[in-house]
Amino acid sequence: MQVNSQMKFQTVRGTKDILPAEIYKWQHIERTVRSVCERFGYTEIRTPVFEETALFARGIGETTDVVGKEMFSFNPSMEGDAMDSITLRPEMTASVMRAYLQHSLQTLAPLTKVYYFAEMFRKERPQAGRQRQFWQFGCECLGSTAAVSDAEVIAVMSLIYRELGITSATMKLNSLGNLETRKTYRVALQDYFRPHFEKLDAVSKERFDKNPLRILDSKNQSLAEIISDAPRLVDFLDDDSKKHFETLQSHLTNLGIAFELDFKLVRGLDYYSRTAFELVSTDLGAQDALGGGGRYDGLSTALGSESEVPAIGFASGVERLLMVMEKQNLFDHLKPQPPVLFIAALGEAAVKVAMTEAYKLRAKGVRCEMDLLGRSLKSQMREANRSGATYTVVLGDDELEKGIVQLRKMSDATQTQIALNEIIDKIQVGK
Ligand code: AMP
Repeated sequence: MQVNSQMKFQTVRGTKDILPAEIYKWQHIERTVRSVCERFGYTEIRTPVFEETALFARGIGETTDVVGKEMFSFNPSMEGDAMDSITLRPEMTASVMRAYLQHSLQTLAPLTKVYYFAEMFRKERPQAGRQRQFWQFGCECLGSTAAVSDAEVIAVMSLIYRELGITSATMKLNSLGNLETRKTYRVALQDYFRPHFEKLDAVSKERFDKNPLRILDSKNQSLAEIISDAPRLVDFLDDDSKKHFETLQSHLTNLGIAFELDFKLVRGLDYYSRTAFELVSTDLGAQDALGGGGRYDGLSTALGSESEVPAIGFASGVERLLMVMEKQNLFDHLKPQPPVLFIAALGEAAVKVAMTEAYKLRAKGVRCEMDLLGRSLKSQMREANRSGATYTVVLGDDELEKGIVQLRKMSDATQTQIALNEIIDKIQVGK
């Protein structure tokens, strides 16, 4: 088939195809994520790709970049709809909490532990490691305030990366205290930055009133010195939060999970509390975060729930993980599964029998391939070789007449003469 390079349609800016040749990498990551999460007792949750815009506006926070400028929102308006704006999900936490509250999941069990592997959408300027449609995996543990649940979520995240072979990433950890802590800290930060206000960049100036904690997030090197001398949130922690933070650290130490305290790691939203963490890699460029998470005890009430649902979770980007794994050659040991058998058939009658035999084998669980292009025997054998099949069988008029075929083991070119209906026994034995 002629491929038309002039084809008009291309993927939309900031989106990518995941082609068959690289899918095994994605499947390897996905399998590992599922396996680790399930071993910890987390069950998958799937929520709709779009939700009411207000859910994210409240659930993520109006002052964040995500809500402020990165949401793909549109009016779904059909006659009779009350909703005037829906948004493609930019993250999962708000959707998970919405589902938890909507279906009263707390009535089923005192603790709800879920994970996801799903696509997210953000209207960002595309660059390496930053797309407009990207994939995230993560887990959320709803119902416990105990530091042991924070430790468990970090352990899930950490074991996933460990099993994928990532050893060079650093887990950064901080505690944000409670709402009161941050109110006091906010004032202290503004007092500190006020004399430096003119030196701040435009983004930080904007954050000064709206969300001064986020000035600490700035990647602007010329602000590094001012920021490094800023008061530290950890020095403002209330006693309970301090205890919670210490307990979490001792759990992580017991598990042998290395972490670095990073007092600049803040999630400047009101409903975040206590634990905040981020996994960063030096194998990534400017976008160095592989994933992050934290405790969000205030989210449920921000979404209108009367009772507070303590919760903790993390979200990780798949594309960035893939970049790191490729750089470290962590896919080299994986190969796409080759077929067990390739049936080369010559002539109409043989193709028919090949199709039936292949179908029977496939129904019994054997991965089997055959030619669909009417190729010559020589090129079918070349294809059998290329496919990496363990065995090949040639079917022509002669074989059909006698009902006998030569089963060829491709690794050593040995041939065994067998009846057509014996293939299944031989390849199972010889596997
Ligand atoms: P966040 O929800 O912003 O904390 O993001 C969690 C993780 O998702 C990040 O650490 C990244 O690995 C990944 N991520 C966030 N935004 C993007 C994006 N636009 N493109 C690719 N990955 C992203």
